[in-house]
Amino acid sequence: MFRLPDTVTLALDTLEAAGYEAYAVGGCVRDLCRGVVPHDYDITTSATPDEIEAAFCGFRLIETGIKHGTVTVLIDGEPLEITTYRTDGEYLDRRHPSNVTFSRDIDDDLSRRDFTVNAMAYSPRRGLRDPFDGRGDLCRRVIRCVGDPDTRFSEDGLRIMRAVRFASCLGFDIDMATSESIHKNRRLLADISAERILSELRRLVVGENACRILTEYGDLIGEIMPEAADDGYTGRVRGIRDTEADEVLRLAVVLGGEDAVCALVRLKPDGKLLDGVGRALSLAKDGIGLDPISLRRALRHAGYDDVIRAVRLRAYYGAIAGGDADGAISLLCAMRECGECVTPRQLAISGRDLIALGVPEGEAVGEMLERLLGLVVEEKLENESGALLDAARSIKAASVGD
Ligand code: ATP
Ligand code: MG
Repeated sequence: MFRLPDTVTLALDTLEAAGYEAYAVGGCVRDLCRGVVPHDYDITTSATPDEIEAAFCGFRLIETGIKHGTVTVLIDGEPLEITTYRTDGEYLDRRHPSNVTFSRDIDDDLSRRDFTVNAMAYSPRRGLRDPFDGRGDLCRRVIRCVGDPDTRFSEDGLRIMRAVRFASCLGFDIDMATSESIHKNRRLLADISAERILSELRRLVVGENACRILTEYGDLIGEIMPEAADDGYTGRVRGIRDTEADEVLRLAVVLGGEDAVCALVRLKPDGKLLDGVGRALSLAKDGIGLDPISLRRALRHAGYDDVIRAVRLRAYYGAIAGGDADGAISLLCAMRECGECVTPRQLAISGRDLIALGVPEGEAVGEMLERLLGLVVEEKLENESGALLDAARSIKAASVGD
C-alpha cells in the first residue's frame, strides 16, 4: 500500500526475521495516509529492548532511551528509533508515566497514543493497523483523542497543546468532545514545562489554521500568556490569516504590545526569537512611517525583516490601511533588492577617503560617516563619491570654525 524507505524496510525485515512483529507507527503513518512525505519514521515492535539489540547485532546502536523501551539503530548512517510496544502506567505527576509496561500486543501500544490520527501502524507484510478509525478522522479532517479526552489530558497536559498544534498545522477541526475537554482542562497547562509549551505554540502560530485555532482557543493563550489575552486579542489574531507564516511576526501579533513580551520571556524563548519579537513590537510602537524617508530612517537601526514586521503590525493595530502596508512592504523589498544605502558601509566613500581628506583617525571618522548617511537617508545628498566628499569637506570646515 505505501512505499517505505529502504532503511525502514530493512529494520522491519530484520525484526520480523528474528520472530517479532514490527511496524512503522505514529506521525509517519498519518503522513503516508495523507499523501505527505514523512519527515521521519518511528518503528514499534513486539521485541523487548534486549531482543531488539540482539536482532540488530552488527549494527551500531544508541541506547539512550532504553529505560522507556527505545533503541536507536544506525542504518546507513541514519538513526532510526525502535520502541517496544508498551502501555503507560499511571501518570502520577501528570507528565510522566510512573512506569512503563512492555506488551506483545500492538493495540496496547496504539491505545496509549494521543490522537486517533497518530494511533495507526503500518507494515508492508501486516498492512494498516487502525483500531480507532484514524483514517476516518483524517478524511473528516478531525483531531480526536484516543479514549476519554478528560482522562487523556489529565494524564499528560501537553496533549492539550499538541491537539491545537495539530489542528492548526493540518488545517483540521477538533472533535467536539475533545474540544470541550481542552477548554475544561486548560489549567493543566500550568504543570507543563515552558519549553515544551513554546515549542508547540511556535508550530501552532505558523499553521494554516492558526487564525481559527487562536480565535477559538483564546482561553488557552490566556492560560499560558495572560498578558496577551486582552480586549484587543480577538481583533488582532483575526488578521493573522492574511500574513505570511512568519513565527516572529505572528507571535508579535498574538502578544499585541511590548508590555506583553514578559509573557513570552516566561516561556524561555531563544535569544533570536525574543529579540525578533521585541524589535518588531518596539518599532511598531514608535509608529513607523511608510514613506521612503521614514522607512530608510528605520532601516538605519533595524534589519529589513524587523521593519517589514513593524509595518505589518501597524496595519494590525488599525493605524494604517492594509493596502498602504502592502505598498510599503513592496518598497522595502525593492530597497533590499537594489542595496539601498541605509548603513555607513553602503556609502559610496569609505573611512579611508575621509582620513585622506584630513578627518582625524578614530571616532571622528565613524561620526562623519553617520552624518553623511543621515543626509543620504533624508534625501539631502546623493550617495555619490564626489557629492559625499564635498559634503564632508564643508562639514569639516564648519566644525573647525566652531
Ligand atoms: P510531528 O513529528 O510531525 O510533530 P508526530 O506525530 O510524529 O508529528 P511526535 O512528537 O514525533 O509527533 O510523536 C510521535 C508519536 O508518538 C505521535 O504520533 C503519537 O503517536 C505519540 N505521541 C507523542 N507525544 C505523545 C503524547 N504526549 N501523548 C501520547 N502520545 C504521544
Ligand atoms: Mg515525529
